[in-house]
Amino acid sequence: MDHRDTGAMRAFVLHPDIQSSPSRRDPAAALEEAVALARALPDLDVVGSSVVRLSKAQPGLLFGRGKIEELGQRFKADDIGLVLVDGPVTPVQQRNLEKEWKVKLLDRTGLILEIFADRARTREGVLQVELAALSYQRTRLVRAWTHLERQRGGLGFVGGPGETQIEADRRAIDEAITRLRRQLAKVVKTRALHRAARAKVPYPIVALVGYTNAGKSTLFNRLTGADVMAKDMLFATLDPTMRGVALPDGTDVILSDTVGFISDLPTQLVAAFRATLEEVLAADIVLHVRDIAHPESEEQAQDVRAILGDLGLDEDVPLLEIWNKIDAVTDDARAPLENRAKRDDGVLIVSALTGEGLEVFTVTVAERLGGVKREDVVHLPFSAGRARAWLFDQGVVEAEEQLEQGLRFRVTWTDRQKARFAEIGA
Ligand code: GDP
Ligand code: MG
Repeated sequence: MDHRDTGAMRAFVLHPDIQSSPSRRDPAAALEEAVALARALPDLDVVGSSVVRLSKAQPGLLFGRGKIEELGQRFKADDIGLVLVDGPVTPVQQRNLEKEWKVKLLDRTGLILEIFADRARTREGVLQVELAALSYQRTRLVRAWTHLERQRGGLGFVGGPGETQIEADRRAIDEAITRLRRQLAKVVKTRALHRAARAKVPYPIVALVGYTNAGKSTLFNRLTGADVMAKDMLFATLDPTMRGVALPDGTDVILSDTVGFISDLPTQLVAAFRATLEEVLAADIVLHVRDIAHPESEEQAQDVRAILGDLGLDEDVPLLEIWNKIDAVTDDARAPLENRAKRDDGVLIVSALTGEGLEVFTVTVAERLGGVKREDVVHLPFSAGRARAWLFDQGVVEAEEQLEQGLRFRVTWTDRQKARFAEIGA
């Protein structure tokens, strides 16, 4: 179904649903999002997931004894190598759980950092992710140290080898952070750079953006899979999140699956996220994929629009909203959505799961890219030598005819060429 290597690490996702937590979310939706996040990591095979209900987090082990035993057996049976815990896990809890379960464990921030590190492509992106990772590591050192200090304090020690080591580690991290900040200050962001990146690949780039769990990867896989309306051009060497696809009209494009937006993104990761998303600036068209069946669909869309605005997307880059998961919308809710989509030619309704709407979708994308050609008739006065030359230059002329008042051309051209011609002719 997807592009992952065989021999991937087997992973299990847990969402601790802590009853006493003030920031408690709908556990099923939260787990689904966490699984979608985990799937964003290459070389990972998510074989199971579960919500764990807790009245409160246990300081040393996070979960209760019985639950740990039960999960441990399951992990052993399923040959799990990595457990992802969708929430904060203290360094002490992490160490204890890793020992109990004989697995590697990542918490939510750790997982998101891994994804960002995997996806960062620009120089700024790489530096921002390193910076966020170091800051994260540093807070974890401090917490581990506080814990140890408390233990030692109880025994009447002051200082000790452990503390010295942690102090040294912390100093090393601080120095690395200072170094990174200096490098970051030197990275100049220019539009020209992004244009250069765009020019490097010979095909238009179609970027999928949107919240995690909106269905970006499902859409990506469906379009790049062995589907009738899109064929994989097999230059998969680019990157697992970038694939060549032929649209139904024959336009070759590169489809790029970007890092998804994340609800409750830890604040220390915001800068890294934005930097990682910068590749969108190199796109020729941006598709904002939305889970239209999600109760917070509108809020999510506003978030996405705000960030895209901040990134400074070129105004001439077309943007389409792809309202995905229409199959999951109730019949009552469907009609108003369809009405809105009909009135707005920037909106397309699809289901990446059932395939509904995907033909219109691919045709529209091609059209917006200027790939779909239409027949047209154009009149020019004899004096319009420049406009006539442009038409021949573009290779759009099918036939030319001399009338009394001027020239008449039968052309086959794209919407983009037609618009350009209108500018030139004026
Ligand atoms: P991403 O995080 O945006 O890449 O989202 P995914 O492609 O991983 O999809 C997240 C979840 O939504 C998966 O469980 C998909 O099966 C599901 N999904 C994706 N598209 C659709 C759709 O059109 N309809 C329904 N009902 N589910 C979908
Ligand atoms: Mg995805």
